[in-house]
Amino acid sequence: MDSQDVHDDLEEVLYTADQIQARIGELAAEIDRDYADKDVLIVGVLKGAVMVMADLSRALSSHIAMDWMAVSSYGSGTKSSGVVRILKDLDADLMNRHVLIVEDIIDSGLTLSWLKANLQSRGPASVEICTLLRKPDAAKVPIDVKYIGYDIPNKFVVGYGLDFAEKYRNLDCIGILAPHVYE
Ligand code: 5GP
Ligand code: MG
Ligand code: MG
Repeated sequence: MDSQDVHDDLEEVLYTADQIQARIGELAAEIDRDYADKDVLIVGVLKGAVMVMADLSRALSSHIAMDWMAVSSYGSGTKSSGVVRILKDLDADLMNRHVLIVEDIIDSGLTLSWLKANLQSRGPASVEICTLLRKPDAAKVPIDVKYIGYDIPNKFVVGYGLDFAEKYRNLDCIGILAPHVYE
């Protein structure tokens, strides 16, 4: 076994596991209140939102249904272009349903703004967005986000579902990736 600790690859921990759980509990309370008289379908965007979906869904006391989508943004390197391809579509029919998209992070907002418009075209009763993280300084398109965990600086973060080359998703905290990892 190697003794490397993945936490050594972080320049700074932004949010600990306990802080994330507490914030998700607060978001769940808001969502419970807002959807008290409605059935909601929560849609997780793979793969980054897996941890948020798992913890948020268990913190909700309302009846919910869960579904998943996988999308990929065409773009050069790490920048998203807004041209989106569906890799895995929903199983659910959205007609007259209240849909809540659950995301890990909103960076430029291009992927999510495309996704929201796509889901809105399927005849739902409503489409709202919940994201754990948002980078306000990176926004390229205005996007109406109802539930936001934290606004963060425009730095590359990993952990709690967020990856760098498919690594670090299993960290229980969220941190800024140290430059020595990618330089
Ligand atoms: P957007 O279309 O908003 O620019 O792209 C959002 C997607 O880019 C996220 O779902 C995520 O996959 C990726 N992304 C954006 N910022 C970060 C970041 O700081 N860390 C990680 N790991 N992924 C990010
Ligand atoms: Mg995502
Ligand atoms: Mg990624």
